[in-house]
Amino acid sequence: MTDQAFDISGKVTIVTGGGTGIGAEIAKEFCRRGAQVMITSRTMDHLGPVAEEIKKAGGTVEAMVCDVRHSDQVEAVVNKTVEIWGRVDVLINNAGASFVAHAHEISPNGFATIVAINLNGTFVFSRAVARVMMAKKTGGNIINISSDAGVYGSATMCHYGAAKAGVINLTRSLAIEWAPYGIRVNCISPGPIETAGVKEVLWPTPELQERAINATALKRFGTGLEIAWPCVFLASRASGYITGVNLQVDGCMLRSGSPESRLIV
Ligand code: NAP
Repeated sequence: MTDQAFDISGKVTIVTGGGTGIGAEIAKEFCRRGAQVMITSRTMDHLGPVAEEIKKAGGTVEAMVCDVRHSDQVEAVVNKTVEIWGRVDVLINNAGASFVAHAHEISPNGFATIVAINLNGTFVFSRAVARVMMAKKTGGNIINISSDAGVYGSATMCHYGAAKAGVINLTRSLAIEWAPYGIRVNCISPGPIETAGVKEVLWPTPELQERAINATALKRFGTGLEIAWPCVFLASRASGYITGVNLQVDGCMLRSGSPESRLIV
């Protein structure tokens, strides 16, 4: 039995932001391990190629466009997933966005937008999925992707740091409230992970890339797969006694990873 503790085959899983970067790696890894996966984000241009790749490899995947800022679109994804596979076992709140700017130059609207995507989106999706898990009495797992910025703060991305800190706190609140329903809620906070989207925004030059990796004890970027594997663990029975945690997957961050990083140790 113990060799099946990490088994996620047959688990109906929704991955937000599943068409690029970390989300795409999570979706592919879950499908490789036999999960049935719904990927969602704002554009089919991102989702389509990943769904194709998964199908070619023999995986079971569906894709649906949804902006996490719109609760009607979120509900539609959850309803469609239930219509196709009958339930939801795992939700991975991976969709996220940011932009680099000094705090005094961020407009209230810019700040609110980043909070809406990273924090409100996580709440709205979690709520919609938890209501299904409760109604069907299946229990399940919710995994939120936060960031080291949510732990240490982030110079030039204060909106993102605040939103991701909110995600870590929300994780604990939901874990406590939903434990009686058999729903575990955990969080992963990545450090610098080399994905195309984030590299362009945060580390566009070799100097900034060098700075980012030197901020970690392991002195390298992490990979999307190195975030996908802890998601497998948190979605499986192997993590059965873990809920409400924030797992920092960051090569041991010595300094905040933003361009104008501040020393924290
Ligand atoms: P990414 O490729 O830019 O992924 C972000 C994903 O979110 C995209 O697939 C995007 O898809 C989706 N998205 C953005 N706004 C959305 C919205 N309003 N509604 C629905 N989907 C939306 O970057 P990544 O590196 O893979 O990041 C994935 C997650 O890890 C994010 O939450 C990020 O904050 C977190 N993270 C990353 C790092 C890193 O170093 N890479 C570090 C810490 C935390 P569409 O454009 O198609 O909507």
